Amino acid sequence: SLTDRLTSTFRNLKGKGRLSEADIDATAREIRRALLDADVAVPAVRDFISHVKERALGAEVSEALNPGQQVVKIVNSELERILGGETRRLTLAKTPPTVIMLVGLQGAGKTTLAGKLSKHLKDQGHTPMLVAADLQRPNAVRQLEINGERAGVPVFAPHPGVSSEAEAPTGDPVQVSRDGIAEATRKQHDIVIVDTAGRTGVDAELMQQASDIRAAINPDEVLFVIDAMIGQDAVATAQAFNEGVGFTGVVLSKLDGDARGGAALSVVNVTGKPIMFASTGEQLNDFEVFHPDRMASRILDMGDVLSLIEQAEKSWDKDEAQKMAQKFVDQEDFTLDDFLNQMQQLKKMGSMKKMLMMMPGAAGMRQQLEQFDDSQIDRIEAIIRSMTPHERNAPKIINGSRRARIARGSGVHVSEVNGLLERFGQAQKMMKKMASGGGGMPGMPGMP
Ligand code: GDP
Ligand code: MG
Repeated sequence: SLTDRLTSTFRNLKGKGRLSEADIDATAREIRRALLDADVAVPAVRDFISHVKERALGAEVSEALNPGQQVVKIVNSELERILGGETRRLTLAKTPPTVIMLVGLQGAGKTTLAGKLSKHLKDQGHTPMLVAADLQRPNAVRQLEINGERAGVPVFAPHPGVSSEAEAPTGDPVQVSRDGIAEATRKQHDIVIVDTAGRTGVDAELMQQASDIRAAINPDEVLFVIDAMIGQDAVATAQAFNEGVGFTGVVLSKLDGDARGGAALSVVNVTGKPIMFASTGEQLNDFEVFHPDRMASRILDMGDVLSLIEQAEKSWDKDEAQKMAQKFVDQEDFTLDDFLNQMQQLKKMGSMKKMLMMMPGAAGMRQQLEQFDDSQIDRIEAIIRSMTPHERNAPKIINGSRRARIARGSGVHVSEVNGLLERFGQAQKMMKKMASGGGGMPGMPGMP
C-alpha cells in the first residue's frame, strides 16, 4: 500500500521543518506510483502531481508534521478539491418535472441506479417516475419495472409487462422518452428519470440514439454512469460520452468492489464534470451522495496516515513545540521536566500505542510497540513527580539513595527508576543531536 511505501520515504526525510524541492520530489514519486496503481490515467496523474508540487513549494510550515507528512496532507486536500470539494446537488427544473437522463455503457449500472436514485428522491419527498427507454436488450424494461416496484416508484414502459426473455421490446426510444415525460407531467410527478440503452463498447449508433433522446427531451441533468472497476478505460469512455451525448454529472458505480477508484480522478480530469453519486452494491439502499474526502483516501489508500496527521496537528501544542525548539537552538539542557512535558504531549495525542503503530516507520518496531501501553507513561509521570525540582534540572545528582527515595515515593521498584534515567540520558543525547540538525518533529524519548 501507499502507507508502506511512504514509510520508507518518510524515513529518508529529515525533520527539517521546511519543504525542500527534493523532499517534494521524493514524496511525489510515491504518490505518482500510488495513483497509477489506483488506475488513474497517466495524463491525470501528471496534471495532479504538478498541482501538488506547486502548492507544496509555497506551503506553510507546520510544527506538528515532518516534510513527508506535509506533502501527503497537501496531496489529500488537492485530491479532495479536484474531486469536487463540495458535492453538487441535482439541478431542479423551474417548471416540473425535472428530467434526469441516465447514460453509460451496458452493464455500467444505469438501471440499478434508476431504482436507487428514485428511492433516494422519494425519501426526500419527491414524487419521481421512471421511464424505460432501453428497448435494446431483452428484459431491460422488466428489469426497470422490478427496480421501480422495489423503490415504490411507478415505471412508464412502452409495452407494460413485456417480459419475454427472447426478444427486445419494440418501439422508438425517443418517442417512449417523450411519451414518458408527457405522462409524468399529466400525473404531476415532479421528477422523471429516463433509463437508456448501453452497448458493451462505445459505438456511433448508441451515441446517436442517446444524443437524439437528449435533443428530444432536453433534460435538466444527464448523468453519466461509470463502473469504477473499468480502470484505465475510464478516460476513453468518459471522453466518448462527453463528446457524443454530453453530460452534466457523473455517477460512480460498483464502489463496493475492490477498485481503488482511480477512474473518478480520470473522469473529472478529462471532462471537468462533477461526480454526484456513488453506487455501492446491488441493493436499493447501496447508494450515497458522493463524498470527495472518502474517495481521496480510497484512491491513496492512506486512511491511517491521514488520521495520524490529523491527530498530530490537533494535539500538538504549538507554543510548547516552539519553546522546545528554541531550547534546542539555545543549546540549553533538556531536563526531566521537558521529558515529562513531552510525555504529556504524546499522551494528548490519544492512545500512544495506537498512534505509534500508525506512525510511518513504526513497522520496524511493531513488536516493541505491542508491549508498550499508556500506563507506562503514567508510571514515568509518577517517578518524575517524586523528584525534587533540583533533581529534575540536574539528573546527574540522582545517586543511589535518591533513587531509592524516588522509587518509594512513586511506588515503583528501583530498577524502574534506573531504566527511566537511562532512557532519559539517551533522549537527551538525541535531543542535542536534533538541535544541531535544526529542530523538527520531536522524537519519542519515552520508548522502552
Ligand atoms: P446497465 O446495463 O447500465 O443498466 O446496468 P445494470 O443496472 O443492469 O447493472 C449491471 C449489473 O451490475 C447488474 O448485475 C447489477 O446488479 C450490477 N450492479 C449495478 N450497480 C452495482 C453496484 O453498485 N455494485 C455491484 N456490486 N453491482 C452493481
Ligand atoms: Mg439497463
